[in-house]
Amino acid sequence: MAASSPGMSRRHVLTAFAALGAALAMGDALATRIDVTLRPRHLHARLLNRDRHLRLERPASGEVVTFCYFRKGKGWDLEGYRQGCRILRDVKYRSTVKVNVKLLDLLFLIQAWLRINQLPTRILVNSGYRTPQHNATLEGAARHSLHIRGMAADICIPGVSIERLGKLVRGIGAGGVGFYPSKGFIHVDVGRVRSWRVAELVEPGQEEWALAVLDQGENFA
Ligand SMILES: [Zn+2]
Repeated sequence: MAASSPGMSRRHVLTAFAALGAALAMGDALATRIDVTLRPRHLHARLLNRDRHLRLERPASGEVVTFCYFRKGKGWDLEGYRQGCRILRDVKYRSTVKVNVKLLDLLFLIQAWLRINQLPTRILVNSGYRTPQHNATLEGAARHSLHIRGMAADICIPGVSIERLGKLVRGIGAGGVGFYPSKGFIHVDVGRVRSWRVAELVEPGQEEWALAVLDQGENFA
């Protein structure tokens, strides 16, 4: 019998693949629910093995863009990539940089997983790239925030709670996830895999864990 990942039976893997195959066959009308508690890395390769369209909104500028930054069989689409960099720019400081393509992939996977789970898919970007000067003005932002390197975004999805969105993104396992329910967004980045939440807002019984995370001296907002 083939080896399987811990906590994931062969039957579950096959079920997930069958569901994903059916969902992909339906294009954007993805209607098949996939158990997001499954380790998703095997599914990501299939999700990424297609044209990668992404729809992002910036409330700060009123922009809404849909772009394709990667084309199956052809590779990176520079015009699409530029659109991605632009929508993720520092709006306040009017600065655009080349964002890390893994960030686009992460946002693409988030949108795909939302769609697969029949959840709303509008990704609102509260913050993407930040200039060091901008970052320095923000209370609570890490001095070496991954926003400065074009590797992070603060996002929310209208109609999806911060808690649910955060858990979904954490399940993708592609980087850091920060829960900021009082601010109405989650932070996602393509740094190392980890998660945290602000201590004063943790649920009863979770304080110990949250404080342990914060004790690492990390605040990546
Ligand atoms: Zn952030």
